[in-house]
Amino acid sequence: MNARVQPVAAAEAKAAPFATHEVRNQARPATGFNAFDDDRALSALIARTVPWARDKLSALGAQAGSEAVQDAARLANEYEPKLVTHDRYGNRNDWVEFHPAWHQLMALAFQSEVHGLAWSTHEPHGHLARAALSYLWNQIENGVGCPTGMAYAAIAGFSGKPQFSLWRERTLAADYDPRRLPIEAKRAAVIGYAMTEKQGGSDLRETQTTARFVERGAHGEIYAITGHKWFFSVPVADGFYTLARTQSGVSCLFVPRLLPDGSANRIHIQRLKDKCGNRSNASSEIEYHDTWSILVGEEGRGIAEILSHAHLTRLDFAVGSAGLMRQALSLALNHAQTRTAFGKPMAELPMQRNVLADLALESEAAMLGAFRVARATDGLQTSDHERLLARVATPVVKFWNCQRAPAFTYECLQVHGGNGFIMENAMARLYREAPLNSIWEGTSNMMCMDVLRAMQRDANCRDAFVDELRASSGLNAVYDRSTDDLADRLRARYPDDGHARALVTRMAHALQAAEMLRHGDAAAADLFVQSRLGADGMHVFGALPSSEGLGEIVARASVIRH
Ligand SMILES: Cc1cc2nc3c(=O)[nH]c(=O)nc-3n(C[C@H](O)[C@H](O)[C@H](O)COP(=O)(O)OP(=O)(O)OC[C@H]3O[C@@H](n4cnc5c(N)ncnc54)[C@H](O)[C@@H]3O)c2cc1C
Repeated sequence: MNARVQPVAAAEAKAAPFATHEVRNQARPATGFNAFDDDRALSALIARTVPWARDKLSALGAQAGSEAVQDAARLANEYEPKLVTHDRYGNRNDWVEFHPAWHQLMALAFQSEVHGLAWSTHEPHGHLARAALSYLWNQIENGVGCPTGMAYAAIAGFSGKPQFSLWRERTLAADYDPRRLPIEAKRAAVIGYAMTEKQGGSDLRETQTTARFVERGAHGEIYAITGHKWFFSVPVADGFYTLARTQSGVSCLFVPRLLPDGSANRIHIQRLKDKCGNRSNASSEIEYHDTWSILVGEEGRGIAEILSHAHLTRLDFAVGSAGLMRQALSLALNHAQTRTAFGKPMAELPMQRNVLADLALESEAAMLGAFRVARATDGLQTSDHERLLARVATPVVKFWNCQRAPAFTYECLQVHGGNGFIMENAMARLYREAPLNSIWEGTSNMMCMDVLRAMQRDANCRDAFVDELRASSGLNAVYDRSTDDLADRLRARYPDDGHARALVTRMAHALQAAEMLRHGDAAAADLFVQSRLGADGMHVFGALPSSEGLGEIVARASVIRH
């Protein structure tokens, strides 16, 4: 070491021990915006369709852009749920402890009616308005999106069944109540679903868990369940829809956490899953031992009962993936707009601008496709077209949005460079979360099979889908040709379901394009059609066929202004 330099360096180090460099050119924090008001595509759609929901959405949008709420999401994922099998005296406890941030987020989500607005409102298009809330919620924290999605479906499951009227009322309530009390004493209830067993989750006909009839009483038909569940999320919920085999086949039963006398029902939590993502939310393995339960619907018709709820959870996860993509996009845009490279903000580098514009188109199309199905769900009772469209298009958008989310978040992570790969950045959490929605509530392959099944059982589903596409005809020649071609493919005969993914991907692109042409910016819609349905058919983000107008697309998608 140079003896003449040493005293100077030592003196500087004493004054400011770690002042080796100036921290510069890091992205600005992605907070301090309103994820509803500042999202032009979303707020314009809502103004045209459900203007009455504007204030509610704006309030949740402000929470989504708030630093405090985003920090609660970080904390809930960092300090994970902990299983407490026994109390300190050795008695079984079967409980899970959470960081206070989890409860804070649950309270915010339920109070915002992310779970229940579709059922509580008397205004038109309640499912669409609730979908918009869920879209915003999924820009806050996805773990909580599991209990809100299950509550949304469970409320429908309780409807029209007098023995569950109290359960319906408590599940609809907005006043989140985590206390372990009998349902009569609670302000609000949280509901779980228990279908999947070790031997398989896609083929529920293989259910091994059994239930034996006990008695018919004031609560309904009582059965005792014995067996296991391999995936059992939200194990501290107040009650669980459960599949078990009875004499007539696989049946649906409802298992309250506590018995009518207030004692614990036999739901033994074996362990919590160590998950790739969704770490704020507890998912467990459990065993039932002669567990008290109430029959739901007809004995032997359990899978049909559960599938009638699944329409709603599938819609919700299609919406959820679109929301997750929107958050990833907002983070990527903020990063690229506030960090420079080669003398420019990164968002202005031509190749990066193409990537960002392409991601913006994909995000808007994912949102519009899912919201179209939410609107169709609003018309289930009043319009044949909407009912048929909802039947066939729900698995289409569940398949496609959930399938795209991992590739989309991966690209948004890349926009962040190395910072995106570090867990203290919300981007890395979204990347680990993204594959989940394509697994639960029916995997991608199951969704494609369901699309084929819907059209095979009722050709009117296929015709309704084509009619829906034709309603956007005359706006773009590439779109019109592609619709004719798809209509032919939908009528063709195939030897097996090996073609299903290719066909359903075409259906998804077509539905998204129809919505982009109807509701999107005209130039952006043309570019979407050209890159998804035209000869330049897109396989990698950032391969938009033109550099014209990409800055405008990026600006339109930016929620955080700089
Ligand atoms: C974090 C997490 C939480 C969960 N929480 C719950 C919960 O609370 N309650 C609950 O009941 N379940 C829950 N699940 C389970 C989930 O619903 C199942 O994982 C899912 O249904 C798939 O079942 P499986 O894992 O048994 O896969 P499998 O059924 O074994 O399928 C494996 C693969 O084979 C494919 N496949 C199966 N059959 C076919 C076919 N005929 N043609 C082509 N491909 C096929 C599937 O698409 C999939 O890709 C959860 C899962 C996760 C990851």
